[in-house]
Amino acid sequence: MTDMDRTVKKDIKSMTLTELQEDLAARGEKPFRAKQIYDWMHVKLAEGFEEMTNLSKVLRKNCELWYTYTSLKTVRVQESRLDGTRKFLFRLPDGNLVESVWMKYRHGNSVCISSQVGCRMGCRFCASTLDGWERSLLPSEMLDQVYAVTRQTGERVSNVVVMGTGEPLDNYDNLLRFIRLLTDENGLNISQRSVTVSTCGIVPGIRRLAEEHLQITLALSLHAVTDEKRRELMPIAERYSIAELMDACRYYFEQTGRRITFEYSLVAGVNDSPEDAELLSALARPLGCHVNLIPVNPIKERDYVQSDAGRVRGFQNKLEKNKINGTIRREMGRDIDGACGQLRRGYIGSQQDLEGEERA
Ligand code: SAH
Repeated sequence: MTDMDRTVKKDIKSMTLTELQEDLAARGEKPFRAKQIYDWMHVKLAEGFEEMTNLSKVLRKNCELWYTYTSLKTVRVQESRLDGTRKFLFRLPDGNLVESVWMKYRHGNSVCISSQVGCRMGCRFCASTLDGWERSLLPSEMLDQVYAVTRQTGERVSNVVVMGTGEPLDNYDNLLRFIRLLTDENGLNISQRSVTVSTCGIVPGIRRLAEEHLQITLALSLHAVTDEKRRELMPIAERYSIAELMDACRYYFEQTGRRITFEYSLVAGVNDSPEDAELLSALARPLGCHVNLIPVNPIKERDYVQSDAGRVRGFQNKLEKNKINGTIRREMGRDIDGACGQLRRGYIGSQQDLEGEERA
């Protein structure tokens, strides 16, 4: 171990079991200690070293000196009266805020986590990007969203979707480490098939992910079927054409055998015509994609309007006629700051109002 290694505190919850074993061995600790600590972090979901009662006091003290321990603090919880969906606002160790959403389904509980503080992708209809990008989350900060929600609900999480604030493929290495830890048999042991990563369509990231040969589900936020229209909604479309995206999706399917899901937010008068449905079918068919139709969640900063129910059904019928599976996503937690990023923005906004009042 170099002097450098000794002075920089490591983020212990982002370390694999093997890394922890090696690190503790280099510090002269017995090998089984690593497994005990790993178990406290990733199975018992301890909030700090002080809870690790089968370690000596001296070792617990030393751990405090050697490592940082990421544990998120809950700032606010909102529960939907309509469907039990809960939104959590968490404070990170550096004071930044992230939100996560817990959804109860018949087939199990799902947690939607954030991958970054803010976002730099700039999708026009999305609230998460309005204040720009702060930083990427560490693996431990993504993991602890799942852990904190599990601790608070007291229920096992069966599905994890990386669909909250941020672009996961813009935080590639940390995302991969997060997935490996989350699905590790020595940790929560969530199956890869129960993990979904949603991307706005960063082509090199999709190709790289394909080569990891994971069994996770990749969701592509498509939202438009022509380059021109997609560029109006999503700045990332300036960088990659739909043709390049479809090539990358094909590659992903070939490498992993996993079918891709298209996310398609329906915006009235923008992307919800019968012709759009035809073109979408033509993109989905060769890849065997499933399509999730989401009536766009209006945010007050933009004047996008949701397609009405009839239009949404019509769109879905058209897909069905073309033998494409399209699910209309139930809107969960409509009554609690619906769209992504709104809880965090609302909270920061209210704190700023307070500060303003205090100053006045
Ligand atoms: N950056 C990733 C994941 C975060 S967004 C991505 O782009 O996929 C998760 C999903 O919510 C994306 O499909 C995104 O386009 C969609 N979304 C964001 N704001 C929305 C809104 N106001 N209404 C409907 N869907 C929205």
